[in-house]
Amino acid sequence: MANTDNKASPQHEVIIIGAGVSGIYQLYRLLELGVDVTVLEAGGGPGGTWYWNRYPGARFDSESYTYGYSFSKELLEEWNWSEHFAGQPETLRYLNHVVDKFDLRGHMQFNCKVKTAAFDEAARLWTVTLADGRTLTTRLLLTAIGMLSAATMPNIEGVESFKGESFHTYYWPREPVDLKGKKVAILGTGATAVQIIAEIADKVDELTVFQRRPNWCAPLHNSPIDAETQAKIKASYDEIFERCRQTPGGFIHGPDRRKFHEVPEAERLAFWEELYNSPGFGVWIGNFRDVLVDEKVNAEFTKFIANKIRKRVHDPVTAEKLIPKDHGFGTRRVPLDTNYYEAYNRDNVHLIDLNETPIERVTPAGIKTSDHEYPFDVIIYATGFDAITGAFDRIEFIGTNGQKLSDKWFDGPLTYLGLQTTGFPNMIILAGPQGGSVSTNFPRGIEEAVDWSTNLFKHLRENGYSRVEPTQEAEDEWTEHVKETYKYSLLGTTKSWFTGYNSNVAGHDTLRYMIYNGGAPRYRERLAQVAEQGYKGLALR
Ligand code: NAP
Repeated sequence: MANTDNKASPQHEVIIIGAGVSGIYQLYRLLELGVDVTVLEAGGGPGGTWYWNRYPGARFDSESYTYGYSFSKELLEEWNWSEHFAGQPETLRYLNHVVDKFDLRGHMQFNCKVKTAAFDEAARLWTVTLADGRTLTTRLLLTAIGMLSAATMPNIEGVESFKGESFHTYYWPREPVDLKGKKVAILGTGATAVQIIAEIADKVDELTVFQRRPNWCAPLHNSPIDAETQAKIKASYDEIFERCRQTPGGFIHGPDRRKFHEVPEAERLAFWEELYNSPGFGVWIGNFRDVLVDEKVNAEFTKFIANKIRKRVHDPVTAEKLIPKDHGFGTRRVPLDTNYYEAYNRDNVHLIDLNETPIERVTPAGIKTSDHEYPFDVIIYATGFDAITGAFDRIEFIGTNGQKLSDKWFDGPLTYLGLQTTGFPNMIILAGPQGGSVSTNFPRGIEEAVDWSTNLFKHLRENGYSRVEPTQEAEDEWTEHVKETYKYSLLGTTKSWFTGYNSNVAGHDTLRYMIYNGGAPRYRERLAQVAEQGYKGLALR
């Protein structure tokens, strides 16, 4: 941005915090414009979520070819995904490949933890303080800090006292962990735990799963991509991305236009069987369009899935424990599984229902519930994240008048388009609350946010603006609109990270409007309109 009004010159035009999927792409786009930009990354390398989450079985459940970046034909052509749903090592290799191919690494600073970022109104710049004691200044601050990057440990007494090995899944050690012959405990049954449990069940001596609330899981149906399919995928990238642009979630799966009652029962069941037996999220987001809207219809599909669980789990008592009773299918994030339920058919896998026997404490030897003390060699905490806003709370962002972002968002985020928040000028939130990426296939939503903010940057630069902040009116309107979108879907009715709940974080026990539920096409349309109207809702100076 031009320094036209005698404001102090910052060290960088732009600082991006985070070298994950969004930080990498944003850096690429800014370098294209010749911008002086640096990326500050807490990890020892690029990759964000894929750098950290090295737990056994980690993989995405977006189709690989919809997860890669769409901006470079050459990249699409040269990269071969080996599986329909690639594992973490491959995705990390991919992101490193992108970083090297486009010469991005030299603009990234690793092991660089940002502690505070404060806006200096007089100088119109951000001062960023790092854990290593350095201070950097920038005109524009872009946050690419991840939506699931603030891991939370359970608020259970004695966690520190355990003498064996223990780790949160997000911080899974980089060096191999030998679980062979070990007695292993895992806390949690979210998407992460579902992957680990299935992956390690046959590799450990004993695996004990501590479950508070079960989730509805459906099979991923992963498989290798053969040469012929690879060629087909490469020949159809344009159609694949166009399809993703049209669906609400940015996936190749979009809702079936029919309503449940419009279809005869036999046809309905055949359709559901087909969804259940097909790869990916179709079973969740490719269903009849009222399955995630109408409670009665949702209950019908929920029954269908409950019966699938009963078929997959041999012991009827265990099966009933694994069937959620507090929410319908798809009203929380659906973990896609590979032999998850089948793991419970093994003699060495045990399910402890914490509703029957709650954990009293972690002891030096293991875990003590209300009826038994279980000894373990390893405890795995698959206990999730202070999602979406947690990463923002862990950096002290100080805006105008000394206001802290964590205070402003304490009762829930307030944003304009999920991309900016009043009182924090010149800060663009690439992936955060109330934006388009959190409820979509992340890279698809992230590309939209990055392209939009790059165009905004150009606009600021070309017009000599050095300050950009949403108006209060625009923020109020957007935040209200986001709340409204919770009425369209049953997803807003269930306690989970989607709705801002986390039992391990004080104050996160009420509904917070974290997610824009209006769908990617409508979000994209809104972004385009705002830009066409000269960035309506943003005060530019
Ligand atoms: P999560 O879905 O929030 O699950 C956390 C689990 O820990 C829940 O089962 C929770 O129980 C349990 N838990 C938390 N605190 C506890 C406590 N104090 N005592 C007992 N149990 C406790 O977290 P996650 O599994 O890490 O997944 C988070 C998100 O990451 C996913 O929804 C998904 O978006 C993403 N992810 C994606 C993939 C993929 O692409 N395949 C894989 C993994 C993760 P309650 O349900 O009772 O709270």
